[in-house]
Amino acid sequence: RNGILISNRLESTAAAADPSSPPCEKFEYQAEVSRLMDLIVHSLYSNKEVFLRELVSNASDALDKLRFLSVTEPELLKDAVDLDIRIQTDKDNGIITITDTGIGMTRQELVDSLGTIAHSGTAKFLKALKESQEAGADSNLIGQFGVGFYSAFLVSDRVVVSTKSPKSDKQYVWEGEAGASSFTIREEADPAKLLPRGTHLTLYLKHDDKGFAHPERIQKLVKNYSQFVSFPIYTWQEKG
Ligand code: ADP
Ligand code: MG
Repeated sequence: RNGILISNRLESTAAAADPSSPPCEKFEYQAEVSRLMDLIVHSLYSNKEVFLRELVSNASDALDKLRFLSVTEPELLKDAVDLDIRIQTDKDNGIITITDTGIGMTRQELVDSLGTIAHSGTAKFLKALKESQEAGADSNLIGQFGVGFYSAFLVSDRVVVSTKSPKSDKQYVWEGEAGASSFTIREEADPAKLLPRGTHLTLYLKHDDKGFAHPERIQKLVKNYSQFVSFPIYTWQEKG
């Protein structure tokens, strides 16, 4: 249904290492998402740091959803992990990871949410941006609107989202590259990466944005933009 399956790739790295691992499937972004991606990658250079606010807000929403649903479905909390958000940085490799123990996504939710159905504000954002560009304004719209998940590509060349919904017994991995017209989804094949529940995002920062992978920088951004998040946000530096 939603999302267009354009090929079945069997030659993913995981599949190459283990012939029994499930295939990696490739999907085209919906047109509006493609336009947004294009803008993010080619024309939005100011206010890049809002990516963290957007991703932390998604983590917080996912934790809220879990907490809300668990009132009527207490079994959702059966993996007794704390409700929190963890941000780790690897400055040597220019990597940021954001992990939440929220509701996660099923495979279908991944296909729909990250690629097929544009974020609620996307159309408004694209319209406002066009109007401000026509008016010759040097717009700061990204800070006002937020562009949701795709803001990860303001600072990343590649984004990997590994997610486990309590409604699914499998964990899935979404992978996208800045400026690409398609993304892939596969099953998590690395046992070390399995989550009890929730979502683990890995941002491979662009060369010029690797400076974001410092705990002090992250702490400052969390303080500036995410101070009203009602779940604990832990930040620390991973030991090299
Ligand atoms: P919005 O937050 O306005 O819906 P986003 O682009 O930020 O738009 O996110 C799109 C959707 O992707 C969310 O609505 C949610 O369904 C899903 N999503 C994003 N991040 C997470 C996450 N950390 N955990 C669970 N679902 C997520
Ligand atoms: Mg969001």
